Amino acid sequence: MSRKSDKYESFVDHPRYGRRPHLTGRDPSPAEPGIHLHWNATTYAEVIGRYQLVTGKRWPYGNANAYWKETRRIPNTAVPADLSRQSPATVAVTHYFDLERECRDCRRPFIFFALEQKFWYEQLGFPLESDCVRCFECRRKQQGLAQQREVYELLFHVRDKTDQQTLDMADACLNLIEHKVFSSRQTERVRMLLNSIPVDSETRQEKRYLELIDRVLEIEERG
Ligand SMILES: [Zn+2]
Repeated sequence: MSRKSDKYESFVDHPRYGRRPHLTGRDPSPAEPGIHLHWNATTYAEVIGRYQLVTGKRWPYGNANAYWKETRRIPNTAVPADLSRQSPATVAVTHYFDLERECRDCRRPFIFFALEQKFWYEQLGFPLESDCVRCFECRRKQQGLAQQREVYELLFHVRDKTDQQTLDMADACLNLIEHKVFSSRQTERVRMLLNSIPVDSETRQEKRYLELIDRVLEIEERG
């Protein structure tokens, strides 16, 4: 395969699974009896076909194609599931497939890998309803922000903060502003925090304190 025709080159990299499909040579069809794929790996036409196969009746729900999330199952990437390890579901999934996805946050393409799904649903105990809508980078960023938020909220309730706790809180608040979780007007709060450190405290000479001040100024200059 030439690099030019390799569309996966532009996919977001995953530190464990990479950015390209993992070909296993397995390609079970959801039309076969005993094969159950995750709803997010099945096309609308396949769901209807399956319904008609199993019940012998016509699909009674009209055309919901517009509401059906597009699936881009990558052929020959199936990994068999261990049903005994999945959380109980109405319909267990017998095979996972590598799926092409578009990240909800950065809009870049990425693969939700069959092996990653196996890990989610069989090792981590995630329910089969849980789905992956963000690329690895955006997920990591989001986890980082969730952590910052937690730090901020914890310290918010600490009455007599040490200087270092005040700096931690100011730092968390700035991270949340910089990633647009908080509005830029919240720099006022960061200023109050930094001003609460006594003027004669050595903390005011620390590099970290000065860097926090710089970040406040930078955000306020940008408006
Ligand atoms: Zn992303």
